[in-house]
Amino acid sequence: MKIFETEVDASERLGQFYIPVWENSDKSVANAIRIFREKWHSYSEESKSHSIINLIKQVIDPVVSEYLSSLPNQYLSYCSISREKCNYSDLIKLRGFRYTADQIHFYLRDFVEKSSHTEQDILFISTQDMLKSLFMICEGKKPHRSKLAPDISLKADKKTRLCALCGNPTEFSQFMHTWTKHGYIERENNDHDNAKDNDEKEGKKKRPDLSTNYCLNHRPKLHGRWNSLYKQAKRSTEQFEKEVLRLRRQIAHPDRHNAKSGDRLIDEYFYHFMLNSSLAPTNVPELRNLARKMVDYRITDNKKRMLVLRKQNKSNENIGILLGEITGKPLSNQAVSKALGTIREEFQLPTFKINEKL
Ligand SMILES: [Zn+2]
Repeated sequence: MKIFETEVDASERLGQFYIPVWENSDKSVANAIRIFREKWHSYSEESKSHSIINLIKQVIDPVVSEYLSSLPNQYLSYCSISREKCNYSDLIKLRGFRYTADQIHFYLRDFVEKSSHTEQDILFISTQDMLKSLFMICEGKKPHRSKLAPDISLKADKKTRLCALCGNPTEFSQFMHTWTKHGYIERENNDHDNAKDNDEKEGKKKRPDLSTNYCLNHRPKLHGRWNSLYKQAKRSTEQFEKEVLRLRRQIAHPDRHNAKSGDRLIDEYFYHFMLNSSLAPTNVPELRNLARKMVDYRITDNKKRMLVLRKQNKSNENIGILLGEITGKPLSNQAVSKALGTIREEFQLPTFKINEKL
């Protein structure tokens, strides 16, 4: 495990075996989850030698029990396990992962309602929430049948790389995925675009010139010419990366404003936009595709601000003035109305409810 690895890097390295670690959570519990996620790929509920519940017992239980001992008594009534009598591995063995995660969720909901959000409250909330997500991810974990040693197997997973400009697998990953079923792959550089067709006609299996960085849509050249989708996406790389990060931060904490865009209105947009999303922090391809769409359909930062202000029941005129205060460039009533009119429904915010809890 690298010491200074960011969560984004860890999630890219571990792929489907990534388990998120929350900010502001207990450091020892977070570290235990980091250790757990390095090991768990070959563990499952069915396996006796690689029992996932035993792994929880070894790696998670001891730090959780230490963490619980460090908590003042008033927090303990909001824990689903008792400090003295029970460990998470016992509860999971008895009732399963889903039940355990649900219990944490119910207690936490009560706690959040009564909490005054002190620093210690936030630490408690983040830690409990992080444990809940760990158990939800563990639910239904199937044994990993690979015969490879753990680190080799991770390298093999790394081959399923995602396009640098969206969430689809790269052309090469896609190829590996479908072609490994059919036999071997010859590594050959072939510049002809129709190499694959010709080879197939000749009954040979060859690897055509496949991109290892981009998916088929975003491949730089198509039939020898520059691909306009590639050029377009390449120009907006910076905004795309920004949106990916914002979406990933927000989905890690759907219960609060967490996009960390540096702009209160944009953070609010991401909060409402992702509030009822079915995506989880582990849905990296889906989140990247969503970011791609957001950029391609030109849901700019200014439009996000407009949508939030409209949700706050502001008039178009007011929206134009308020935007002027932020960007230094006030917009007319018509400009606001025109901009809002171009936004696809899927990126609009759910209708405004007056007493909505933020
Ligand atoms: Zn792509």
